Amino acid sequence: MNENAKRFLTNQLVWIGIYFGIALTVTLLLDFPLSLLVVLAIILPLSLYRRRRYFKRVGGGEGSFFNPGGMFGPRGIDYYCISCGTKHRQAACPNCGSKMKKAGF
Ligand SMILES: [Zn+2]
Repeated sequence: MNENAKRFLTNQLVWIGIYFGIALTVTLLLDFPLSLLVVLAIILPLSLYRRRRYFKRVGGGEGSFFNPGGMFGPRGIDYYCISCGTKHRQAACPNCGSKMKKAGF
């Protein structure tokens, strides 16, 4: 197992411990249906935040180490309008308003 995988696994275990601790504490403090809701309300945003941070690190987002300015991630894809050829990243072409476009790099 390499260093990265080991760190990832340790991190996962730590977070499982944190989730478990939160779930246990809330369950002790509140009754069942409410406790479940509170646990979800705490854990869901946390896991979303973690996922976003993870994707940022592996280079999908903006300005990670391997991907300065988000140049090579999904955000780096430009679209070309099929009607007039304008390069843009909006849903519709800013030049002619056409929604038909193709992806290019
Ligand atoms: Zn256009």
